[in-house]
Amino acid sequence: MQISGTMLLGADAVRGTQGEMRAFAPALGKEIEPAFGLGGPADVERACALAAQAFDPFRAAPLETRARLLEAIAERILEIGDELIERAHLESALAKARLEGERGRTVGQLRLFASLVRDGRWCGAVLDSALPERKPLPRSDLRAQRIGLGPVAVFGASNFPLAFSVAGGDTASALAAGCPVVVKAHPAHPGTSELVGRAIQRAVADVGLPAGVFSLLFGGGNAVGEALVAHPAIKAVGFTGSRGGGLALARIAAQRPEPIPVYAEMSSVNPMFVMPAALAARGEALAKGFVESLTLGVGQFCTNPGLVLGFDGPDLDRFVSVAAAALEQKTSQTMLTAGIAASYRDAVGARAQLAGVERVAQGAESEAHCAARPALFKTAAVDFIEQHTLGDEIFGPTSIVVACRDEAELLRVAEHLEGQLTATLQIDSGDHALARRLLPVLERKAGRILANGFPTGVEVSYAMVHGGPFPATSDARTTSVGAMAIERFLRPVCYQDLPADLLPPALQDDNPLALWRLRDGELVRN
Ligand code: NAP
Repeated sequence: MQISGTMLLGADAVRGTQGEMRAFAPALGKEIEPAFGLGGPADVERACALAAQAFDPFRAAPLETRARLLEAIAERILEIGDELIERAHLESALAKARLEGERGRTVGQLRLFASLVRDGRWCGAVLDSALPERKPLPRSDLRAQRIGLGPVAVFGASNFPLAFSVAGGDTASALAAGCPVVVKAHPAHPGTSELVGRAIQRAVADVGLPAGVFSLLFGGGNAVGEALVAHPAIKAVGFTGSRGGGLALARIAAQRPEPIPVYAEMSSVNPMFVMPAALAARGEALAKGFVESLTLGVGQFCTNPGLVLGFDGPDLDRFVSVAAAALEQKTSQTMLTAGIAASYRDAVGARAQLAGVERVAQGAESEAHCAARPALFKTAAVDFIEQHTLGDEIFGPTSIVVACRDEAELLRVAEHLEGQLTATLQIDSGDHALARRLLPVLERKAGRILANGFPTGVEVSYAMVHGGPFPATSDARTTSVGAMAIERFLRPVCYQDLPADLLPPALQDDNPLALWRLRDGELVRN
């Protein structure tokens, strides 16, 4: 498939006229062809108008069509073949094997949402029968279902050019909810974005849905994204990226005449608690596993373990020295963008200057362009609590070990933490009493709590939560990965005493969609 540098506005490929950009290949340290035409206000207007027109016919189409759309997107993505992996590799410097895995995850995610659409429980059909004889007042016939919010603006992430981008979890869950999607392509991978965008465009045509169900915009600077979020046709936003970017978009959304929800996944340091019994029994293995998790994908995971907490003493010292030795074996590697690499170097340099912070290890330098050198720091709990920036995410392969004097101090540090995507417990049976004291704090702080594993690696399944209190996300009630992600783009509508022939299929007496429904308080399939 030829990458042409055009935006996709519904069925049309449109060349933006507001300037040009080329992708930057971070591993080569240079720009690559072709040039992408950048969009402006008229393109945002057209994409949003098409999405608004498509909304009613899209959500009224049979659920089977909606499910087939998601499956057709998966098939069309696979059809692109190696070209997609080659281009994503060039634009992101991520390893091809990793990108192949990510493509599998993207396709699996689309298929999961297709099965969710068919299952129909997302629709939340509820029927409360009328009680005409009830005294003192009769009760009306009440029926409720959930419908899509409307067109959704999606901002993909730089670190997952497939699974969190044009056809990633935000797009898949919004389409599953019956919401048209307008994607603002991430400037770090425009070619990958166009290839995947064309796959979606074809899939929309394959299943005969209105073309406005999907559009893809390119923008230079923030203007296109800002105009998209401000557009009255847009009813929700999905975002993965920096805290500054997510907050800027949330501000625009809140200041609109009609404010809309922004589901932004932003930053997390993912604390890992190495409990005393586990540390004594298997500290070395934990240290080696930790360094593998920390440096995987050049540390460019939102679930990277950027903070380790344990009790001061010989076991923690041994953990640190084994981790330091393992980290020194790692060489610096190319990051996703020159900007991300520069931010990483600046942030690690600034951390090394902080009082009470010791840099215990660094990876080896290499000749790679836009490279990040892994780094491990250590500090005491008092210093961690005093210096707020130590709790901030540094995106890349760096972490800090915080030595706590006792349980009270460990709990104080846990209380001091901001919201997190994950919290990890390394525990043996002797640690359960402490874990029980810590868990209520971690439940308040994190979207996912895991034991005896590492937080990198997010399963796409029904129970997965990839969310958490601010600043992990802008809305702790939801997740951006897994089946529950669909909840973000739905709202309930109640129908009171509507004549039978006007009721939507999900709520009709004879249950033509064969949905599970809550009928007078009982879950039934009739
Ligand atoms: P980013 O700078 O926040 O950009 C993400 C997307 O949002 C891009 O499409 C960007 O496009 C747009 N955007 C950003 N600020 C905007 C604004 N003020 N108004 C309108 N649109 C805006 O994120 P990034 O480039 O992917 O990575 C930068 C940093 O984000 C990293 O160093 C890391 O700290 C963090 N990050 C976090 C995660 C995570 O999973 N939590 C993932 C990746 C990155 P334009 O620039 O074209 O407007």
